[in-house]
Amino acid sequence: MSNLPTHEQLRQWDRQIVWHAFTQMAEYEPLILERARGCTLVDIDGNEYLDGVSSLWCNVHGHCHPTIDAAIRQQLGKVAHVTSLGASNPTTIRLARRLVDLTPEGLAHVFFASDGACAVEVALKMALQYWRQCDAPRPEKTGYIALGDAYHGDTLGAVSVGGVERFHATFAPLLFDVHRLPAPNPYRPPEGVSPENVLPDALARLERLLEEHHERIAAMVIEPLVQCAAGMIMHPPGYLRGARELTRKYDVLLIADEVAVGMGRTGRMFACEHEDVSPDFLCLGKGLTGGYLPLAATLTTDAVWQAFLGEYAEAKTFFHGHTYGGNPLAAAAAMATLDVFEQEKTLANLAPRIARLGEHLDRMAQLPHVGDVRQRGLIGAVELVRDRTTRESYPWAERRGIRVCDHARREGVLLRPLGNVLVIMPPLVVSLDELDCIATALRRGIIAAIP
Ligand SMILES: *Cc1c(COP(=O)(O)O)cnc(C)c1O
Repeated sequence: MSNLPTHEQLRQWDRQIVWHAFTQMAEYEPLILERARGCTLVDIDGNEYLDGVSSLWCNVHGHCHPTIDAAIRQQLGKVAHVTSLGASNPTTIRLARRLVDLTPEGLAHVFFASDGACAVEVALKMALQYWRQCDAPRPEKTGYIALGDAYHGDTLGAVSVGGVERFHATFAPLLFDVHRLPAPNPYRPPEGVSPENVLPDALARLERLLEEHHERIAAMVIEPLVQCAAGMIMHPPGYLRGARELTRKYDVLLIADEVAVGMGRTGRMFACEHEDVSPDFLCLGKGLTGGYLPLAATLTTDAVWQAFLGEYAEAKTFFHGHTYGGNPLAAAAAMATLDVFEQEKTLANLAPRIARLGEHLDRMAQLPHVGDVRQRGLIGAVELVRDRTTRESYPWAERRGIRVCDHARREGVLLRPLGNVLVIMPPLVVSLDELDCIATALRRGIIAAIP
């Protein structure tokens, strides 16, 4: 035991050796979390924090949930990992069966990977290969439609369809071109479009693009209902449904990236359910294992699956894979996560939490530098602006969002902003008291950071 590093050593190594994601390491202040229970995280000094963003949008039923812990232990007693390249495991098979039963009609096959970005890459590649191999091949269909400010992960295919300027601009020389449409954003509509007309305008733009280019477009990729990383941009109701109808009309596949909005986050198990949409590809990640282990899934239709069947020598195989895809421990965590949804009636119990979050957001909307509050299910967002009338944003370098969250952290609430947008996205089991604490810390943070 005497060889264990001191807390000071841990902090030093964490600053100097560990390269943290999306973090400026020159100014990183270590936050070293050692334990957790329910919605509370505990650091190495024993300080407690409420997990206001579900450990980056992935925790569902709380930390150290006994059912999920037990399922992982039980799987560990059998085998931790087997390859999914030409082999399988009962737990992974059962999970695939269950996902097919649970997801929208028409999705019948599951490809497993480990991260959300990979689930999107898989859908992009499958879509392109589908058009080469389907009954009436259309190999010229190699393009993609994506939305402005889209975020689909950080691998190069996912970044190509992504549209967040600050994250993606540096890598432009490595990316493929996509057809980009403005995000249907009611708070910041495209030039010359009124907020009420965001929906018809967005669908008209999509239809014009499809009319002109559909013969060369393989798929449209979309984050259904909420573009999370973009700053919780919430699409007007009807956009998803309209995009499904138009893509079907013009023979373009629809990829629904539910990595963030899936698994109950919007109040239904999958966001597509709100508009009764069945995509050609559904990408899941983040909450799929309850926020326990890396696992992602790309579900697709029988039509896509059929196009990849053939004699070995025809090379219709999907030549793509990830070493840990379908990992049994992760699959066990995912099965247990779905069990807990049933046992604890998680979705039915969300209503009072969603309502309480709404009350807090309404109150925060009164603060002088809050330009907009938005909510979908248990996703809450507060957008700070310098000027409420012109909706002028604070310059990014002023780090307003970060300052608000630093303040909340001193009050024992962990939050992570998206630029000037503050996010409340707790585990789905957050108690009303915990929700009150999170919202109060955020509110006080806003008042403190924006005098
Ligand atoms: C987080 C996220 C991803 C990427 O998932 P990773 O597991 O971080 O690779 C993809 N799409 C959306 C919508 C996300 O929010």
